[in-house]
Amino acid sequence: MECLFCRIVAGQIPAKKVHDDEHVIGFHDINPQAPTHVIFVPRRHIATTNELTIDDRVLAGHLLVAAARYAREQGLADAGYRLVMNCNADGGQTVFHIHLHLLAGRKLTWPPG
Ligand code: 5GP
Ligand code: ZN
Repeated sequence: MECLFCRIVAGQIPAKKVHDDEHVIGFHDINPQAPTHVIFVPRRHIATTNELTIDDRVLAGHLLVAAARYAREQGLADAGYRLVMNCNADGGQTVFHIHLHLLAGRKLTWPPG
């Protein structure tokens, strides 16, 4: 298995998990860019958002709902946070298995770099 996040989903590489259900797992980013930096990934491999189809709409929504619920549970919701999916080179994607970043715990600048 080549894909890093598929290997984390399969338990072949350890990760600090915060969420685990039938469709999605969430875990701490190894190189956090904010006091809270968690990544939510679908169990099923999808390389980039370019590959998403209408059949993936429930799964894509599941990522958002899992991240938002975690933010609420962690008491981050009122202060706020950012949810980000990077795509390909210009988006800054480095792992080619789609994932939703949850960044929180500091004032984030806009526009991003
Ligand atoms: P991207 O740049 O593709 O949007 O995000 C990939 C993220 O995965 C980066 O923030 C990077 O720090 C994180 N990452 C890369 N390798 C690992 C790893 O082995 N474990 C964890 N937990 N995160 C990783
Ligand atoms: Zn994968």
